[in-house]
Amino acid sequence: MPTIPRLFVTPSLTPAAEVAGSAEQAHYLGSVIRKRVGDEVCVFNGQDGEWRARISTLRRDSVGFRLDAQLRAQADEDDLWLVFALLKRDTTDLVVQKATELGASVIQPVITDRTNASRVNDGRLRAIAIEAAEQCERLTVPDVRPPKALGDLLIGWPTERPLFAAIERADAAPVASVSGPCGLLVGPEGGFTPQELDVLRRYQFVAPVSLGPRVLRAETACLAGLAVLRSSGNR
Ligand code: SAH
Repeated sequence: MPTIPRLFVTPSLTPAAEVAGSAEQAHYLGSVIRKRVGDEVCVFNGQDGEWRARISTLRRDSVGFRLDAQLRAQADEDDLWLVFALLKRDTTDLVVQKATELGASVIQPVITDRTNASRVNDGRLRAIAIEAAEQCERLTVPDVRPPKALGDLLIGWPTERPLFAAIERADAAPVASVSGPCGLLVGPEGGFTPQELDVLRRYQFVAPVSLGPRVLRAETACLAGLAVLRSSGNR
């Protein structure tokens, strides 16, 4: 069976509505996978569930979809925030893609004492998150936030939300599956500094966790931690 393209769109989705896709989607549908007017797609916008639709207009740089029927109603998804010390570009891309697949609802890069990067290309990271959400059948796209300093993040953190801080070589409890809102914090390749570890320990909402006896690369720690946090249940 040919796969039906699954596309994130921004307009509201209501019965029989005609909604516009992006120029990139027009290019992808028309030139890459060679779809035509009348072909079926699925669309979602993060708010109105997922809909079956048909391509109603297709030009080189514009595409329209006519909505047919709702396939899935919008449902609550994981409330799981990933906070990670910003990595170099390719690794950050990988973390954003995989964290989207693993259900992160917020992806927050932070700057720590040993972080080497400080900037991201917001548009590029958002595009990676959208593509991953389309592929993995999520109904939402995670909110990829601009980088902020670790200290500022901690000051502004909602105190009722546990923040599991992955700390290597510490006598911390192994990370375990939890339900409900929470966050995972992963440090940079060089690790957190002793001062940062002291600051983390001062916050009651911070719970140190271990990801096992080996020292993982930061990107591995992000993905392993997210997977374990949500390893049971379907939320
Ligand atoms: N260079 C550092 C290791 C940093 S690993 C050193 O050799 O000491 C990068 C980040 O991944 C760490 O800051 C931590 O958040 C996470 N991490 C890696 N392995 C971990 C483990 N076994 N348990 C918990 N966190 C881990």
